[in-house]
Amino acid sequence: MNSSLAAIFHEPSQPLELRNVAVPAPIGGEVLVRVLGCTLCGSDLHTVSGRRNSPAPSVLGHEIVGEIVELGASAPRHDLAGAELGVGDRVTWAIVASCGDCFYCQRELPQKCLHGVKYGHEQFVARRELTGGLAEYCLLAPGTALVKLPEELPLEVVCPANCATATVAAALAAAGPIAGRTVGILGAGMLGLTACAMAQLRGAAVVIAVEPNTERREQALRCGATHAIAPDELVATAAAASAGPGLDVVLELSGAAAAFETAWPVLCIGGTLVLVGAVFPGPPVAISLEQIVRRNLTLRGVHNYAPKDLLVAVEFLKQAHGRFPLQELVGPWYPLKEVAQAFAAARNPRHLRVGVRN
Ligand SMILES: [Zn+2]
Ligand SMILES: [Zn+2]
Repeated sequence: MNSSLAAIFHEPSQPLELRNVAVPAPIGGEVLVRVLGCTLCGSDLHTVSGRRNSPAPSVLGHEIVGEIVELGASAPRHDLAGAELGVGDRVTWAIVASCGDCFYCQRELPQKCLHGVKYGHEQFVARRELTGGLAEYCLLAPGTALVKLPEELPLEVVCPANCATATVAAALAAAGPIAGRTVGILGAGMLGLTACAMAQLRGAAVVIAVEPNTERREQALRCGATHAIAPDELVATAAAASAGPGLDVVLELSGAAAAFETAWPVLCIGGTLVLVGAVFPGPPVAISLEQIVRRNLTLRGVHNYAPKDLLVAVEFLKQAHGRFPLQELVGPWYPLKEVAQAFAAARNPRHLRVGVRN
């Protein structure tokens, strides 16, 4: 049996332990993948800092691209788009493997599957330790939706697909029609910049990125935003850019309670606010119920995504790569042995996504 170097999370504020773990041969519907790269998502940083709870011991990292090493006897032979899958294919996969049968799977929420395996978030179980991206190998569970990656997409562009990009695809799907609409995007981190590009490609009339950091505002303009403003400019910009009524859609990607409180008043009648960023506990917020009713507003919460959103995400990256500088959003890269340096670099706000590759 081969072994795989893995960075193991034990508890917050403690260094990840680098040690070798046995690599199991895939059985049944499992697929063994060699990890080519894994980008550090905000939730990995929050886990390590203790801001959010995550099971331990575990291998963190879920924004993964890998290469198929071996398919179990009943593993899928086709990806989500129907393309044939085989050894050597470069793939990514949905963040949650789902059973297809439980209460939530039957309600089109496979990301909340009661029997789900969530990559980068699973406590060690014998033979199933390698479920995260911060290792040389990853064992995919039965029920994992895979997507074969087009050769033209470099690792830098495609690595965040199965969290950041697919979550933005799910958020825009929850927002309803985008073509010709006015869209506000709160927060220009990895998700916000991706959302600017996706809204622009879908034909939004106006894309307003709201972000305190001036460097990120400049990036937002390069990624498809028509306006990039500081938070205190939102009310005036939303009124001017919509010629009066307010914005059709606002995506809240920053997780800041204050951002929410500035966001819902700038929606037009019938507008939709999609909440994505608040994935850790925060203070309660004030909202007028009467305003939601009289202005026919819709509030949607979106956490993770379904496999169909991952397919949309990879298609988006194919179209957006070359048109927007998505490559510059990812980096620097570190070898797995230097995972501690990778986490340190990821805490620098200049780095939207730091990568670890083997
Ligand atoms: Zn993530
Ligand atoms: Zn299920």
